[in-house]
Amino acid sequence: QWIFLSGEFVRKEEAKISVYDHGFLYGDGVFEGIRAYDGNIYRLNEHLVRLYESAKSIMLDIPYEFEAMKELVAETVRKNSLRDAYVRVVVSRGVGNLGLDPKSCGMAQVVVIAEELALFPKELYETGLEIVSVATRRNRPDVLSPKVKSLNYLNNILVKIEANLANVPEALMMNNEGYVAEGSGDNIFLVKNKALYTPPGYVGALEGITREAILEIAEEEGYTIKEEPFTRHDVYVADEVFLTGTAAEVIAVVKVDGRVINDGAPGVETEYITKCFRNKVATDGMQ
Ligand code: PLP
Repeated sequence: QWIFLSGEFVRKEEAKISVYDHGFLYGDGVFEGIRAYDGNIYRLNEHLVRLYESAKSIMLDIPYEFEAMKELVAETVRKNSLRDAYVRVVVSRGVGNLGLDPKSCGMAQVVVIAEELALFPKELYETGLEIVSVATRRNRPDVLSPKVKSLNYLNNILVKIEANLANVPEALMMNNEGYVAEGSGDNIFLVKNKALYTPPGYVGALEGITREAILEIAEEEGYTIKEEPFTRHDVYVADEVFLTGTAAEVIAVVKVDGRVINDGAPGVETEYITKCFRNKVATDGMQ
């Protein structure tokens, strides 16, 4: 496996970074998770726009032009002879001294990793997920925008730890007002009376690229779309619930905090939307 690091491709075993990298010392950096389907990199532009915007927001200069970065991602997939892959792009502040001031850091470090994907286990796509809501809160949008996909993923990790403690594969985090924000690494949708609900970004959700694709599908398919804040109660009484993300794609949720959704099976709308999503990834093509 070849990994792009410090301007060249190196073997996985040799892909090491300095302990003085501020990505390691302080979580100072940004990242993206991108999918390739049958050799086509799905919505690469959108992912890289989010990467560059995240970097701009934290005043991190990515030492590659946008087009060069696109090529780098494609090259990493090709170099590893992958058709279906998950690509991780990481840009860290780079090597500095022990102080947190980014002024001590030299050039940002760019890492690109492409590998085969470990999704939720296959059977969970047929049975649907049981999830719980947890105490960890999404960071406030006015402090650090959830739109910034930064290397500071501690609250998401705490969500995952709480999910592990509850023995479920995923969990739901609220914002400080108690509105549902998102999962540890995925967005949430509800279906209620044929309308599709998802929290708006300002509630504290990353505006996922899969979420965007689902909203496009909903529009094309004539669903009523409601991007509005909702609470756990609304989740409990929804007709259907599903999660979306680059890694997870679309996956049904059939139990939330012990409340059974849709008789405990993935719903028809979720299945239909999943089918449309599959069509979309097959036809969107590389940009
Ligand atoms: N929410 C969080 C916190 C994430 O890390 C991700 C993954 O990128 C998502 C949602 C889903 O976003 P996307 O569909 O762009 O992968």
